[in-house]
Amino acid sequence: MKWYELRTEDVEKQVNTNYEKGLTTKEVKKRLEQFGFNELKEAEKPNMFLLFLAQFKDFMVLVLLAATLISGLLGEYIDAIAIIAIIIINGFLGFFQERKAEKSLDALKELSAPQVMVKRDGSWVKIASSELVVGDVVKFASGDRISADIRILNSSSLEIEESALTGESLPVQKKTNSISGQDVGIGDQENMAFMGTMVTRGSGVGVVVATGMNTAMGQIADLLQSAETMITPLQRKLEQLGKILITVALILTAIVVLLGVLQGHDVYSMFLAGVSLAVAAIPEGLPAIVTVALSLGVQRMIKNNAIVRKLPAVETLGCASVICSDKTGTMTQNKMTVTHLWSGGKTWTVSGTGYEPDGRFYEGEDIIQPKDVKSLHQLLTFGLLCNNADIRQKKKDFALDGDPTEGALVVSAMKAGLTRTLLQEQFVIEKEFPFDSNRKMMSVIVRDPNGKRFVVTKGAPDVLIQNSESILWDHKQQFLSTRLKDEVEGAIEELGAQALRTIAVAFKALGPSETVYNEIDAEKNLIFIGLQGMIDPPRPEVKLAVKECKEAGIRTVMITGDHIITAKAIATQLGILPLGGKVVEGKELANMSVEELEDIVEDVYVFARVSPEHKLKIVKALQNNGHIVAMTGDGVNDAPAIKASDIGIAMGITGTDVAKEASSLVLLDDNFATIKAAIKEGRNIYENIRKFIRYLLASNVGEILVMLFAMLLALPLPLVPIQILWVNLVTDGLPAMALGLDQAEGDVMKRAPRNPREGVFARGLAWKIVSRGFLIGGVTLAAFMIVYSNQPDNLMYAQTVAFATLVMAQLIHVFDCRSDRSIFHRNPFENMYLVFAVISSIILMLIVIYYPPLQPVFHTTDIMLRDWLLILGLSAIPTFLLAGSMLFRRRA
Ligand code: ATP
Repeated sequence: MKWYELRTEDVEKQVNTNYEKGLTTKEVKKRLEQFGFNELKEAEKPNMFLLFLAQFKDFMVLVLLAATLISGLLGEYIDAIAIIAIIIINGFLGFFQERKAEKSLDALKELSAPQVMVKRDGSWVKIASSELVVGDVVKFASGDRISADIRILNSSSLEIEESALTGESLPVQKKTNSISGQDVGIGDQENMAFMGTMVTRGSGVGVVVATGMNTAMGQIADLLQSAETMITPLQRKLEQLGKILITVALILTAIVVLLGVLQGHDVYSMFLAGVSLAVAAIPEGLPAIVTVALSLGVQRMIKNNAIVRKLPAVETLGCASVICSDKTGTMTQNKMTVTHLWSGGKTWTVSGTGYEPDGRFYEGEDIIQPKDVKSLHQLLTFGLLCNNADIRQKKKDFALDGDPTEGALVVSAMKAGLTRTLLQEQFVIEKEFPFDSNRKMMSVIVRDPNGKRFVVTKGAPDVLIQNSESILWDHKQQFLSTRLKDEVEGAIEELGAQALRTIAVAFKALGPSETVYNEIDAEKNLIFIGLQGMIDPPRPEVKLAVKECKEAGIRTVMITGDHIITAKAIATQLGILPLGGKVVEGKELANMSVEELEDIVEDVYVFARVSPEHKLKIVKALQNNGHIVAMTGDGVNDAPAIKASDIGIAMGITGTDVAKEASSLVLLDDNFATIKAAIKEGRNIYENIRKFIRYLLASNVGEILVMLFAMLLALPLPLVPIQILWVNLVTDGLPAMALGLDQAEGDVMKRAPRNPREGVFARGLAWKIVSRGFLIGGVTLAAFMIVYSNQPDNLMYAQTVAFATLVMAQLIHVFDCRSDRSIFHRNPFENMYLVFAVISSIILMLIVIYYPPLQPVFHTTDIMLRDWLLILGLSAIPTFLLAGSMLFRRRA
């Protein structure tokens, strides 16, 4: 179908819709059932059974399976079946861990799925773009990713970048007229917007003509690969490290086997013990558990309103040393209310709060009627004319539809009895030049009932004043002299110092047929009318968050498009700007090189009146000074800085698709405090990963050493293969997972950020692993030797005691792993998952030891009560001995 050829009214018939009302819910349901969701097909996921089988592809597991099979053939049925059962349980564990990780990553994808504004049953609603159907009327604006093929019905300065389809990176200006021609290429279909392309400027309304695989994108993208799963730096390091650990474990195991054979043990049982030991000691599951810990952490972040889009960001979060944050909406509530108005040297105040259009106007103490004061009335009228926001009453509440800054202007006008409906009866908007944060202005061309045309502009006052050549003063148009300019600037500063955000309004008359080509044309030689000053209260939680970040060694920098005085006032209120801290303006930044900025950036706490492109410079300068930078943003032009920063953060509510796609973290509530919470969680996740690396590796070291020492001392095997596998299952399983769910140690936000180059074993971790592992192996062997020397004819009893000591030593040690300092620093009952994991592991161990049918399987026998004292005493040593010695050293 050549949609570009049709007139818009023909498209309406063709797709059977109604441009005014959109589709009805019933019709949408029908079309969804008939044509399916608006989705591109993804490559199929590997099937569950294959994923399960993949758990057994590990080389040592295969060797163990083969060895077990041989022992089965040799008649050792019970051993063979038990070993296979344990391998299968282990496989299931790995399988569930991987499934969980994958599922939560899928859930993440869903959460960050794009949304779209669509007209349904007569009103605009936001829906997931996958629910779009042919015939839906949609609107889109700068920063949106187009989510279906759309015939454009209405456009205002609309430009779309179509490189995803055409390879052409220059945006195309879009129009609405039909185009004739046989084979008009996609790049020339100027009245169409295609799925996957990006709105870089302006806004538009259109009707969906194709969805899913029927779109131009669907036709070229046969089967889209599902997004690649990204691997984090730590996972990469662990993978490399894993190879080293495997080699070390294999060498040590080989030594154990060799020594055993030399000491006279039979080759076959040494081989089986060796392979079991290798399977137990090789930390092959580590990367998978890391993924689980990461994804569990990511889920906790979602609860705190932060969505991680790129997994590596979780780690980088913990290294952040500077947060560059927007002000409006992130640090403030973005609930604006005009409180002051200024025109021609006079100031008025307005009462009322929020969006409720109920308030009075005052001149000093006296109530006035705005319609009696011409300049004030004009300021309010034009503020409403050059405006796209709406205030709707829902029962008793008044809700805003649109931009909060504009909403405040609507409310102030409504308080004076002006409404959009009223103005629409008199004025026709001929054209709009939408707001953008580079110009910091917006304009409309308006025609009044007498056919007179004029431009109305509103925007940042310091910009507007530069574009004005005269001013309304005492109800007369006067030349904007330096003296009057100074007066205006004085007024802007006075309002700014009260932390008010200021918007100026100006206008100019146009000839009856005067053409305005572009916004530059429209926004020059203006007549300045006045200012509206609005409060935007800080979010109450931000001050504390800024303070906590400071204690955590993270500096907060405010980057705002707002006026320098307003920015300064709010930064001071929030504790961001310290005494002597610098404030830099966008225009100074523009004249600075990155190197020059590097020299001063450490003292700058506020960047005001900046344009989005300045953000990139700020990121670069901070990074060159060695910082790990988190940068927030919402618009299209913020994307480069978001991408360049170490942690790109996009706003979930006000953010555009483009900003979100560039980001690694999305704030669902646009709140600065959420960034702090995410950083805390990021630090915690990293610490949790260190915790179970420490636990698992120390356990493995212990397991290997007990066997190695025994062989060196020419003792019998202290543990039989099935016991080794069991220990591995019980320790690798629940307790390690529960460590991944641990809470942050109280002071995690009182430390300096982690050095991103820090290795996995930094901060004494290697020493802790080796020393604890050594002691765990040592006490297990000691228990074995003590009991064995008492009853040399009862090897099985000594082995059972060794088994119990090893398990208990590990289960006590797991609590020590929760703190970087010592076990005494943390209340063990804070993490009830861990307590339950440990209790269930103990119960399982007791069953294996005491339940008669399992005794022959696990080569165990009842342990006497007296020996439990020995077991418990010895197994507590690795944890308490070192903790006690540390305590002693600290005191000494
Ligand atoms: P932040 O970067 O912290 O979010 P901001 O919202 O003030 O700050 P911009 O949205 O770039 O940044 O706005 C810059 C300036 O443009 C504002 O201070 C205001 O004076 C003006 N402005 C904002 N919104 C509009 C609008 N809808 N129409 C006209 N001017 C606007």
